[in-house]
Amino acid sequence: MKSARELVDRLRAYQPPNTDLGQHFLIDEAMLERMVVIAEVNNNDHILEIGPGPGTLTQYLLKTGANVTAIEIDDAPVLHLDEAFREEQNTKQLILHHDDALNAAWPSSITKVVANIPYQISSPLIEKLTRHLKEHEGVLQQVVLMVQHEFGQRLSMNHPADVGSLGMTVALDWDVTDHHMVAPHHFSPQPAVHSQVIELRPHNKAFSVDKRLVRQTIHLAFEQRRKKIRSTLKRAPKRISRIKGWHAQRWKDAMQTLQELEIMDARPEELTLDDWVQLAEKVEKGSM
Ligand code: SAH
Repeated sequence: MKSARELVDRLRAYQPPNTDLGQHFLIDEAMLERMVVIAEVNNNDHILEIGPGPGTLTQYLLKTGANVTAIEIDDAPVLHLDEAFREEQNTKQLILHHDDALNAAWPSSITKVVANIPYQISSPLIEKLTRHLKEHEGVLQQVVLMVQHEFGQRLSMNHPADVGSLGMTVALDWDVTDHHMVAPHHFSPQPAVHSQVIELRPHNKAFSVDKRLVRQTIHLAFEQRRKKIRSTLKRAPKRISRIKGWHAQRWKDAMQTLQELEIMDARPEELTLDDWVQLAEKVEKGSM
């Protein structure tokens, strides 16, 4: 195995890190190994890695015997990885794609996603993961990501201040566990923020109401998080007509019938996921 330092230096010989692309490379071997341990990566896995960069995490993933598909957007890391992992590519243990992970098609056989991601794509990446899960239920088992600490807190919602539409809508599909924090000095170059490893596992719960209706209700309410939901939910979600059978008037009629409910006096951060699901059920029933 090559040391993380060596891989990072080799990449640096091609070009200096481009921080606009989130190029802060994890150089602590123990931290790299820990992500692979949390994800319980084994030789039956097909791992998707987003933004392999110098290939430090890639190397730990390959060591387990797992197959790895790695998607990297930047030219220099692709050239570097191509050279550093020639053998693994020849045996097809590693498939390297030069692409934007948000636009690229992900293989359907992915069992886990393990990545130290570029932080600026965190939100759209979570959305893409949820879409992927919906299309490949039963195949994708686990996601382990290094994210910005604040983002991790909003996903896990362990503190009241972090309760919001991100964590609440993610909870419709995933159980979130937050793991250890990682200080800036474990990266090169050092980021300005603290990082954290988070884990998502699909809970595969079935709901009695269309999840998209719950999701849109949550997003609309949290647009004005200080207001009572009675007032924010008066107007229909902008994209309501994207849900089959729904249109703005149906939403407004439904809201009329729910005015007396006690929950309408709540502010969005006071509601649990079950509350949102029950509310969406009532919206659906009230409008029929
Ligand atoms: N995984 C490495 C590198 C993390 S830095 C490590 O653990 O150190 C983030 C990497 O993501 C960089 O290599 C950057 O070029 C790449 N990247 C940025 N945006 C991307 C995108 N949209 N799709 C794929 N890769 C991206």
